[in-house]
Amino acid sequence: RADAVLERQRGRESSARTYARSFPIVPARAHGMTVEGTDGRRYLDCLSGAGTLALGHNHPIVLEAVQRTLTSGAPLHVLDLATPEKDAFTDALFATLPSGFADRARIHFCGPTGTDAVEAAFKLMQTATGRRGLLAFTGAYHGMTAGALAASGGVTTKQPVPGIAADVTRLPYPYSYRCPFGVGGEHGAQLSARYTERLLDDPNGGVVPPAAMIVEAVQGEGGAVPAPDAWLREMRRITAERGIPLIADEVQTGVGRTGAFWAVEHSGIVPDAMVMSKAIGGSLPLAVIVYHEDYDGWLPGAHTGTFRGNTLAMAAGTATLRYVAKEGLAERAAAVGAAMTARLEALSSQLPAIGDVRGRGLMIGVELVDPEAEPDACGARPAAPRIAAQVRAACLERGLIVELGGRYDSTARLLPPLTVTDEQVEAVLDRLTDAIASVTA
Ligand code: PMP
Repeated sequence: RADAVLERQRGRESSARTYARSFPIVPARAHGMTVEGTDGRRYLDCLSGAGTLALGHNHPIVLEAVQRTLTSGAPLHVLDLATPEKDAFTDALFATLPSGFADRARIHFCGPTGTDAVEAAFKLMQTATGRRGLLAFTGAYHGMTAGALAASGGVTTKQPVPGIAADVTRLPYPYSYRCPFGVGGEHGAQLSARYTERLLDDPNGGVVPPAAMIVEAVQGEGGAVPAPDAWLREMRRITAERGIPLIADEVQTGVGRTGAFWAVEHSGIVPDAMVMSKAIGGSLPLAVIVYHEDYDGWLPGAHTGTFRGNTLAMAAGTATLRYVAKEGLAERAAAVGAAMTARLEALSSQLPAIGDVRGRGLMIGVELVDPEAEPDACGARPAAPRIAAQVRAACLERGLIVELGGRYDSTARLLPPLTVTDEQVEAVLDRLTDAIASVTA
């Protein structure tokens, strides 16, 4: 049955079919971190819907919230009218916002995916500032539509379409392993900040006057690359001094994933807008922007759409936000993530194909490199996308779903649910180690 389903969908779906291509499985059931195929095989899911499933699959509190709403008679579709579900969701979300942000925050419910919210944030800031340029970073990923893709920064499978990137100035993200300035760590990050500042102040720098800077505090698709806190504070200072709104893209990093409820909290910065999706909908599609009221310059009707404010997604999202906060799951993600990262770092001495282990909380990247090649000035060896693809396949054979990412598609990304148990952590590490060893033996 699984083979027949795969065969039929191969014939009918577009050739992109990205996840289905990487994981030729047909999920029938899922619970927590476990996905079961129609053939009865079970997998530990370390992709979690690209970071969507903060509580894993079908968490009882999410199911309960959805079932309760379904049988309550609440309208499932009301465009963006005010509903008790929207009210409860907004309350729950505002209760999580970084201090200094919630008091004067406005929320805008966007179309159902993160990309929609990114586009809306660009447009909001373009309206508010009267400027049209955007500042974005190498290795960034913000979505698949024209503006969001233009702001993305060269992740192998997510390239901007030629001709749409003219107004985007791409700046060097402080990626300490493959450092843009040939210097790693804090020093490399400082150089990136200096470069940014100088370019913005250079009248001949070719920067289209920016309506906003958009940044991920930890790049997700870019390969779980965390920005140093001091660098983010520099970006906040540089943008504030020049009147450029700062948009934090928290689509993947939000809801406890990085060990704080929102990833910007690690650095203590307060952005002007936050883009949120994935985990805020508790497995169902939901995307919002939250921004400082000063930027609320849209005329009524200036940004609309049919599917904004899905009742079921709000119910699932409210339950998820409350549960993550009540159970201290961000703190748990910090502790479990630190332990996993330390174990993986220790492994890298036995497995030379592991070039870099990085991340924050339960957003971890293991960059696979050519074990035989010479390191560059920063100590980085060439990325090994072929080894990475083999590792992903070997993981799947061992019952582990791991997706790749990174500038060169060479990073195995680990995004387990925040509820991952100690036994599951052991199983993930065992299977991943075995997979890497089998490929590079
Ligand atoms: N921003 C970031 C940081 C993301 O990781 C993603 C999705 N991986 C998006 C935006 C786009 O979200 P969506 O796929 O829901 O449109």
